[in-house]
Amino acid sequence: MTETSKTFLAKSTIKAADLDHRRKINFNIGKYNAAVPNGKAQFSNVHLARERAKNAKWRAIETLDEQLENFEKVFSANGGKVIWAETGEDAIAAILAICKEKNCKTLVKSKSMVTEEIHLNKAMEANDIESIETDLGEYIQQLDDEPPYHIVTPAMHKSKEDVARLFNQKLGTDPNLTPTELTLVARKILREKYVQAEVGITGANFIISDIGGVALTENEGNGRLTCAFPKTHIVVVGIEKMIPSLTDLGLFWPLLSTFGTGQKITSYNSVITGPRKAAETDGPEEMYVILLDNGRTNILDNPIQRESLYCIRCGACLNACPVYKNIGGHAYGVTYSGPIGSIITPHLQGMQEFKHLSYASSLCGNCTEVCAVKINLHELLIDNRKESVEDGYTSLAEKAAWKIWRMACQSRMMMNMGNGKFKNKVVNGIAKDWTRNRADLNFSKKTFNQMWKDRMK
Ligand code: SF4
Repeated sequence: MTETSKTFLAKSTIKAADLDHRRKINFNIGKYNAAVPNGKAQFSNVHLARERAKNAKWRAIETLDEQLENFEKVFSANGGKVIWAETGEDAIAAILAICKEKNCKTLVKSKSMVTEEIHLNKAMEANDIESIETDLGEYIQQLDDEPPYHIVTPAMHKSKEDVARLFNQKLGTDPNLTPTELTLVARKILREKYVQAEVGITGANFIISDIGGVALTENEGNGRLTCAFPKTHIVVVGIEKMIPSLTDLGLFWPLLSTFGTGQKITSYNSVITGPRKAAETDGPEEMYVILLDNGRTNILDNPIQRESLYCIRCGACLNACPVYKNIGGHAYGVTYSGPIGSIITPHLQGMQEFKHLSYASSLCGNCTEVCAVKINLHELLIDNRKESVEDGYTSLAEKAAWKIWRMACQSRMMMNMGNGKFKNKVVNGIAKDWTRNRADLNFSKKTFNQMWKDRMK
């Protein structure tokens, strides 16, 4: 067992028994579940919309090389600069070089999972650059020195009382502030940062090939301020976020908001195609897009797992997952949690270290049922397990156990042998991990085959 899987098991065991955690998660996911039908009501045929989105992503991913090159050509023609980053380190090095050139002391950033993936804040801190999260949930998490708990709602595990306590400890505010008052405190602090910051960093919900554009969708307006106030805007985006055409947004924006938060459309939707032009009054003087690989081409190279690159990060599969709802987002110990995280992480960060995530699933298929772009998530989880076995990452004990199981299942004599007490003793002894949190396995005195024979006599 690897260290990462031991840590995962230890953290999950604690969280699964934490009833206060479960209460908060159920409350917040309950609100989400109540909102989603409102969003879905806008589609005359939501299944067809999901199929069409899946087809559009299929097209984008199957022709990703051409789409990316076209994006670069058009975006560059509009005055933007494209940087290709093979690894997270390459992306950080590029950002630091830009910050150095701009003499950047403070940068503002909007919510972006890819910047979590490359550990941007820590890298900036190590280089004496203040990096401020401007999304309220991310700001709360940054104050608490915690990574996001959920890919859409970063502070989902915190109650309003938890946030009031945190603000009191870190900012000295009244511990009984209401959510509105807490938001105003954050707003006042953050507004000053936009003006100070030399650089603004955002992610991208989509990159659009035909117009060389970056699509951003958000509810707080902080993304827009991050793009528009600082003189330099850097976008960090995974290469899989590609969609072929601007016209695809008519489908993807309502789909993302419906499955992400239950809204018909998110409050602020921006398409940015380059830095400010001569006749324009707003926007940055310079704009960079960093196209990040960081293991995504490993997934692209895998004909089965390639489908996971269609993900639009709506978070619906996390909210639907019984495992996520029990162990929470932090127990996974990786940037992308929940079903989609369990599928892509072994390919992004190493099968040996992270294969255990693909086993952390009941395979109930609820994730597949709710996926905005109809990714066959539970099948990809099974395929990851298969791949990890083929790659030889199975312990000798497990291999031996399956061998014995196979021999036993193929032999009627062995199946009928010692049912009842003997089998209970042997199997419950072997399956200690299984019975630790469950009732003992209880074999009947006779097998079905023996009972059937008796009956037929
Ligand atoms: S896998 Fe599907 S449900 Fe999960 S985050 Fe991605 S698009 Fe949403």
